[in-house]
Amino acid sequence: MTLLGTAFMVFAIFQRRRRHIFVLGGCYLITALGFTIQSFELGLGFTTKKFVANLLFVIALSLLSGAVIARQMVPVPYAALGITAVVTLAVFSWFLLIDVDFLMRVLAINFGLGTMCLIAGIFLLQSRRRALIDRSLAWLAFLGFADFMIRPLVAAWVGVGSDPLDRPLTSSYWLMTNLSAIVFCLLIALTLLSAVAIDAMRELTTESRTDPLSGLLNRRGFEEQAVPYLSTTDADTMPISLILADLDHFKEVNDLYGHEAGDRLITGFARLIGDRGGPQAIIARTGGEEFALLLPNYDLGSACLLAESIRRDTPILQHEVAAGVVTGRTCSLGVTARSGREELWTFFHRADDALMQAKRNGRNSVRTAFARPTTRLAIARQAAG
Ligand code: GH3
Ligand code: MG
Ligand code: MG
Repeated sequence: MTLLGTAFMVFAIFQRRRRHIFVLGGCYLITALGFTIQSFELGLGFTTKKFVANLLFVIALSLLSGAVIARQMVPVPYAALGITAVVTLAVFSWFLLIDVDFLMRVLAINFGLGTMCLIAGIFLLQSRRRALIDRSLAWLAFLGFADFMIRPLVAAWVGVGSDPLDRPLTSSYWLMTNLSAIVFCLLIALTLLSAVAIDAMRELTTESRTDPLSGLLNRRGFEEQAVPYLSTTDADTMPISLILADLDHFKEVNDLYGHEAGDRLITGFARLIGDRGGPQAIIARTGGEEFALLLPNYDLGSACLLAESIRRDTPILQHEVAAGVVTGRTCSLGVTARSGREELWTFFHRADDALMQAKRNGRNSVRTAFARPTTRLAIARQAAG
């Protein structure tokens, strides 16, 4: 347990943005302390020992449930977990201090911990993340729930209530409890460690494909998404268009108002095209102030209309500068449609030519490039290989 806790803590140091890993580490260290107090004679006295150990277990499982739910980007049900923890401890303490009853204590603590697992499982299933690792965590939570529910039944069956000395590891109940707790903790820790490692790898991959300033894909991410997508379709069955956009005289913004103002204009423009592109579009910042929108289900006509609406609304974009808010920047756009099974960079270059024409044409305009008409002879040659 201590080792696992330390492993999570080491991960937490490298992944400071992910606070839940730190909580996971804390949870395993607390569990280790709970097991130490429960299993060794530390001169605490029976009642104190039982209370402190179980208090630690309840805290650890609340933290574990919260941290695992937080990892899935689902809101943590603090109230439900908190109430379960308090009620569990209250009932447990009642049967420890007032109406001393071992079997009832076993029931209280197991039902309480089981309920927390159930809450965690239900919330984990609500997550939109559906990878194997995410589903494994949800099912482990349900396994934990089943484990905690079966334990008191076994306790009643083997008759632990008749063991007045309640010595750890002397009854079959204690043997089973400790064994299943250790197996469960190890299983969940291994799954969680894999999850943390997978998250770290996912983050690295996403970072290498994303432009941090605009939040859009970068050129590499654009290519990595667009190329496989294009290989599954051709323009005869579904039209696909491409818009390239470039802010006009952008260097001037940097020179007049500073680099930060330029950055804010880039972010604002990225948001505008992100909103306009719709959910199917593959949108990227392909260079400093250059953007690409690959548009499935758009023919050349509808792509031109979209480009025109972006051109029209760019001057409305406000971007803060030291002296206040500035508007009135413009952009130029080049549009083309994919022909047949044309490769990405072939029609990308055509859209780029159209963009250059728009620049030469005095900027703040949309220009269109058509694919060279494919003659029957060319089609026949292509088919012949
Ligand atoms: P044109 O109308 O012909 O497109 O002229 P332009 O000034 O927009 O284009 P040019 O290519 O001459 O200059 C682009 C400038 O964009 C130069 C570069 O310093 C700036 N730039 C590139 N990346 C960033 C960035 O991330 N932030 C800021 N603020 N500026 C950037
Ligand atoms: Mg420019
Ligand atoms: Mg440029």
